[in-house]
Amino acid sequence: MNIKKVVVIGSGTMGSGIAAHLCNANIPVVLLDLKTEIADQAKERILKSKPPLLFEKSKILSLKTGNIKDNFDNVADADWIIEAVVERIDIKHKIYDEILQKRKKDSVVSSNTSTIPLKILSQKMSTEDKKDFCITHFFNPVRYMGLLEIVQEINTDKSKVALLKNFCETKLGKGVIVCGDTPGFLGNRIGVYAMQVAMTEAIKMKLSVEEADAVFGRPMGIPKTGVFALYDLIGIDLMQDVLLSFKKELSKEDPFQKVASNLPIVNKLVDSGYTGRKGKGGFYRLNKIKDKKVLEALNLNNNQYFPVKKIDLKIDKVDLLKLISREDKYGKFAWSVISKIIKYSSSLVPNITREYNDIDEALRLGFNWSMGPFEMLENIGLNNFFSRIDDIEDNKFLNELKNKKISNFYDQRQKYTSIETLGKIKKNVIKLDKNDSAEIFRFKDFNIVEFNTKANALDYNSMDSLMKATDKPLIIINESMQFSAGVNLNYVMEFIKKNDLKSVEKFIRHFQETCKHLKYCRNPVISAPSGLALGGGEEVLLQSNYVVTHTNIVMGLVETIVGLVPAGGGCKELLWRWTQTEKGKNDPDFAPLEVFNIIGYAKTATSPHEAKPLLFLDKNHDVIINRNELLPAARSLLEKNADISNSIECKFKLSGESVRKKMHKVLEQLYNENKILDHGMMVGKELAYVLSGGETNLEREVTEDQMYRLELDSFMKLIETQKTQDRISHTLKTGKPLIN
Ligand code: NAD
Repeated sequence: MNIKKVVVIGSGTMGSGIAAHLCNANIPVVLLDLKTEIADQAKERILKSKPPLLFEKSKILSLKTGNIKDNFDNVADADWIIEAVVERIDIKHKIYDEILQKRKKDSVVSSNTSTIPLKILSQKMSTEDKKDFCITHFFNPVRYMGLLEIVQEINTDKSKVALLKNFCETKLGKGVIVCGDTPGFLGNRIGVYAMQVAMTEAIKMKLSVEEADAVFGRPMGIPKTGVFALYDLIGIDLMQDVLLSFKKELSKEDPFQKVASNLPIVNKLVDSGYTGRKGKGGFYRLNKIKDKKVLEALNLNNNQYFPVKKIDLKIDKVDLLKLISREDKYGKFAWSVISKIIKYSSSLVPNITREYNDIDEALRLGFNWSMGPFEMLENIGLNNFFSRIDDIEDNKFLNELKNKKISNFYDQRQKYTSIETLGKIKKNVIKLDKNDSAEIFRFKDFNIVEFNTKANALDYNSMDSLMKATDKPLIIINESMQFSAGVNLNYVMEFIKKNDLKSVEKFIRHFQETCKHLKYCRNPVISAPSGLALGGGEEVLLQSNYVVTHTNIVMGLVETIVGLVPAGGGCKELLWRWTQTEKGKNDPDFAPLEVFNIIGYAKTATSPHEAKPLLFLDKNHDVIINRNELLPAARSLLEKNADISNSIECKFKLSGESVRKKMHKVLEQLYNENKILDHGMMVGKELAYVLSGGETNLEREVTEDQMYRLELDSFMKLIETQKTQDRISHTLKTGKPLIN
């Protein structure tokens, strides 16, 4: 089976997302709906989507739209037909009937259903057709969510499933877990149960919406949407339907039934039109008060909205044992929720899967948890868990574990794939060094640095690890969502609060020295990013010898937003790349003006395809669609001894004041148009000073070290100002920029 053409039927949220992602992989795809206009609107939605579903807009050229009457012939020569219409069995059955009459022999037909069992979907099919039919359950948004569950049953042709799995893994980059035909499969069975438990317990324990999300969120290695904000994001009405289906499909004895009924508050919200983010709001809403948008949360006691209260649990690292040992209500809530999730998940092994690891990976890939339930158990420690848990009598998995009297049980990670991932090799690495911000591993003949702060924000310790790890070829990679969101501004602000500018300067110097060291050290340095690589994170990439990048990446030098300039070599390195272009070689002002534009507007690229024209990526990079492949791809470069060194020392000829004047003109226009205010002007002028080479002219040469110096001086000048400090504090507090 060679998949060269795909037809997707149903162009709603999922159908359009799947079609867009097939376009990303350059697979011709036809998207059909009841009317062509509906599919055309879906195409428009794809083009306007944020975050973008396409790697770059031109990918849409692989997509054709049509309707199921006039264009159904497309099914005849399609290799894979995906049904993604509304969750109505009568409609789905009718479509399968038509597809099976039209399709070519050997094609695969699949449904994206999240709740209807495979045996019901296929009940009217012949045994022959059942062979080629399965469920391919993608998650929303399709480009960004790693999980694809392929559901098979006894009649399904296993070799076909294997081929489909391989296609989805290599071409679409998905983490494909093959599972049996059980309600909610793996991800939703546990993920939705966890949400229901968190919600029910929060209400029982009288926690506010914000408190529950603050605990059932980052402190548990779960995205910050927690439970209530996640309900809003998914759609409260959609959650109602999902729960109805679980109630119907699960046996009466299943512990899920206890939390599967909609809570009165959920029904009340939906009845009054509060369906979540797509509607008027839900557990949270944006309200306009005196022309200002205010985020409000629902008070579950009196059903009224109040401005959101920030809950700070003073936790910056996931430590479940510490969390569940807290004496306060948050600790009690955490234990109650976590223990129930572990108990429920383990009770389902081996009925829903023989591999407990598959459940963990489904939650990592489908819900973005940093640990699944079994990893949570390992993290808490078996002895600690068993000394606290009440009744596990009817739980075979836990009982066996308890009787073994062992302290660690977890074996391999990511069993669903044969790729030798970072998660897998961590079992066999030598742990060389660890500090609060990063860890160094030795594997075979190379080192790995994995950052491990919140959003992998960088500080002195992160740089220390990079510096120490270059005694061998180095790969900078991590398993968490972000490569690095930039320098840790909280860390910098701590010094500022103490008026300790010397320490800030020392840190920036160390940052520069480290990046310079990465560029010139004897051993090659490869960065393998996924997720955010912003500010300081992007500077690490710019000064690595090679970048193996995942397709889901956000790159940019965004320092001006917080009133700063890039000072870890970002200005210097991007400027160098632009001076090496044809135009840059012919016109000395071309590169400084281009880079002024890119950094000044804090432009970001949302894929490697967008990063290339901005020169955030130069020729020394590879693009990888499957995140699991980042490490093997980087490894193979090192093992092949590929010539990946790009350590040419930059020497600039810049026109100094002459090009600076041109930049100032741009700033003045923006100022006159009120697009920037006084401080924006100051930041812009500092950036202009750095990129123009300071006090220089075309006769002189500006060295790499002089550029580092210019970056540092401007950074220090700006960080001392109240207005930059205001910008930083505002962004740290709200996540939004302050224009001042
Ligand atoms: P949706 O309501 O957004 O879109 C459904 C589309 O199907 C609509 O465009 C509708 O016009 C079209 N349609 C209806 N009848 C049709 C027919 N006879 N022929 C062709 N098109 C028809 O739904 P969705 O959220 O995209 O869900 C689609 C499927 O994916 C469902 O089975 C759902 O359970 C599943 N799913 C949804 C999500 C999610 O987060 N939304 C996640 C995973 C799986």
